[in-house]
Amino acid sequence: MREIEDFTDDRLKAWCIHCGAPVADVPNNRDHVPTKSLLTKELRKRGADYDRGVGDEMDYLPQVTVCRTCNSGFSPDENYLLCVLHAVMAGSLYPDPKTHPEAASILRSNRNVVRALKQAQDGQSSLFDDHEPFALFPDADKVRRVIVKNARGHAYHDMGEPLRDEPDDVAFVPLIRLSAEQREAFEKAGTASHLVGWPEVGSRLTVHLLAEGPMVDGWITVEPGRYRYAIAWAEAVTVKTVIWEYLATETCWYR
Ligand SMILES: [Zn+2]
Repeated sequence: MREIEDFTDDRLKAWCIHCGAPVADVPNNRDHVPTKSLLTKELRKRGADYDRGVGDEMDYLPQVTVCRTCNSGFSPDENYLLCVLHAVMAGSLYPDPKTHPEAASILRSNRNVVRALKQAQDGQSSLFDDHEPFALFPDADKVRRVIVKNARGHAYHDMGEPLRDEPDDVAFVPLIRLSAEQREAFEKAGTASHLVGWPEVGSRLTVHLLAEGPMVDGWITVEPGRYRYAIAWAEAVTVKTVIWEYLATETCWYR
């Protein structure tokens, strides 16, 4: 992405978007949105080169300044989500290093996460062996925290809008689980689609239909196949993301 000079009100930048701490008064650093580990190594390296002033101007990776406590506090959950994605894409908690080298390496070095994922769903670990279909029941709170972190970061980075309140709705669901109609609504960038979340299968969000607002922009691709997002900016702030063209997420703040 090209770095755009930020003209948003500097007064809004005085507080950490996650905890509200005055960033000038506490240790702070730059946090990548989206979570850097969701992108390929190649892109991360190009982004780091850009930050050092030696890279291509299109290699800027979006970052926001947050307090260091929040920044490091997200790491375990970000790592957890990364493991979930790798396991799902590889179809196993113990992927073959020959066919899935990156997944194998990540999951091997996160035994605690693998153990936790095996023990989910009442310890029915036989569910998680290499049977088809491979199913995981990840800790929704952990996944949700990463989604909200990134959604907040996108809204702040792109619009200068700090959204410190807890979002009103957070949903995430594999794209393949969406019906054709749901998929169409979700892919439409300028509106909320009222995505129904996973893993609460069967639940329905209370639908507050929003008036059709002006489309702020379409989808922004951070890395093809890895991460894209769209922000809708009507009566609510809605941040949609697609992670690895697998997981659709939608975070809403009704204002
Ligand atoms: Zn903070």
